[in-house]
Amino acid sequence: MKLIRLRDGKDRSLQRRHPWVFEGSIANGRADPGETVRVEAADGRFLAWGAYSPSSMIRVRAWSFIEAERIDRAFFERRVARALALRARLPVPSTGMRLVHGEADGLPGLVVDRYGDTLCAQFLAAGTDRWKDTLADLLMAASGAARLYERSDAGVREREGLAPVTGWLRRTGDVSGNTEVTIEEHGWQLTLDVATGHKTGFYLDQRDNRLRFSQLVRHFGLRTVLNCYSYTGGFTVAALAGGAEHVTSVDSSAPVLQRVQDHVRMNGFDEARNACVDADVNQFLRQSLEAGRRFDAIVLDPPKFAPSAAHAERAARAYKDINRLALKLLAPGGLLFTFSCSGGISADLFHKIVAGAALDAGVDGAILQRLEGACDHPTTMVFPEGEYLKGLAVLRL
Ligand code: SAH
Repeated sequence: MKLIRLRDGKDRSLQRRHPWVFEGSIANGRADPGETVRVEAADGRFLAWGAYSPSSMIRVRAWSFIEAERIDRAFFERRVARALALRARLPVPSTGMRLVHGEADGLPGLVVDRYGDTLCAQFLAAGTDRWKDTLADLLMAASGAARLYERSDAGVREREGLAPVTGWLRRTGDVSGNTEVTIEEHGWQLTLDVATGHKTGFYLDQRDNRLRFSQLVRHFGLRTVLNCYSYTGGFTVAALAGGAEHVTSVDSSAPVLQRVQDHVRMNGFDEARNACVDADVNQFLRQSLEAGRRFDAIVLDPPKFAPSAAHAERAARAYKDINRLALKLLAPGGLLFTFSCSGGISADLFHKIVAGAALDAGVDGAILQRLEGACDHPTTMVFPEGEYLKGLAVLRL
């Protein structure tokens, strides 16, 4: 067993059961990509078993803080069982659900989403990549799924020195290889493609917020809705289900927009009630203001502007800009659902950004609700970095 010895005083974070060891904390020791290592404090005390990642800044990700625990197939079987047992208890009104959420489930570098009988997994770190076959078998057996698609093509793999890999990892018997899947969320039919969709195909983390939006659109009797960064139109369907008369769905990716109109139709709404616009949101907001348009409700769910805290300042300006424009476009009494999925922007900071945007826009608003990711994307006590999605529901006064 290879040994990683930490520098003096660098054991505090592992002692608090935070699973990351950064390169600069290590005094000596090395291992192969994904190999299990024993991590010790400078004085030789056992701290954790972890997976070594030679090219990553996060040099070790801890598997276990228990000295007697062996990192073997049985260990991963217990971790997968624990993740699935939690999901079985959670209130998730959908056939689409996150089964494994990395560090929060004690499996750093592994993301697994379930879409009906199809699993889609991302192996994002050297440790999970090394155990891929074992994990694939365990996930299939524990979930009872018919097939497992691999989407290990996220940018973070590069930092782990891992090349992108995609394709079917497991498929039982004569199960179809069609990567197109339909899920039912809050009774709505939504489709995705595990091979070509964003992330593993769908933004499951916004599930609860889509339902809340639908409820508030109905409650306030809102008629015209602007869905910015619509992706495949989850919030578009939510708005129509809430009784909105017309939705404008804006995204800069033409392929994702094709699905929005399918979703409108599949859920029994007249296609004329949604207009798709292939545009940059910032430009669209500016043009709409110039044209004197107004909307009763606006959703702003942009991609990650700040991948890390280092990008926070530039990202803050970008968030403020779109929020200022959206608040100006909002009719009095209108509703803004605004989000940030940047780990580098805290919920507090996001609140300040939106408050600054309202001040600049010259509008006041009441915060109806603070929004967060759905409960199948848990944030654990010891891993605050897991909290990435935050949002505000603002009612313009
Ligand atoms: N709200 C969606 C998820 C949004 S993901 C849901 O509930 O499913 C963010 C989306 O923003 C992606 O579809 C991406 O194509 C789009 N996007 C990224 N940059 C953009 C830009 N500058 N203008 C418009 N859309 C953009």
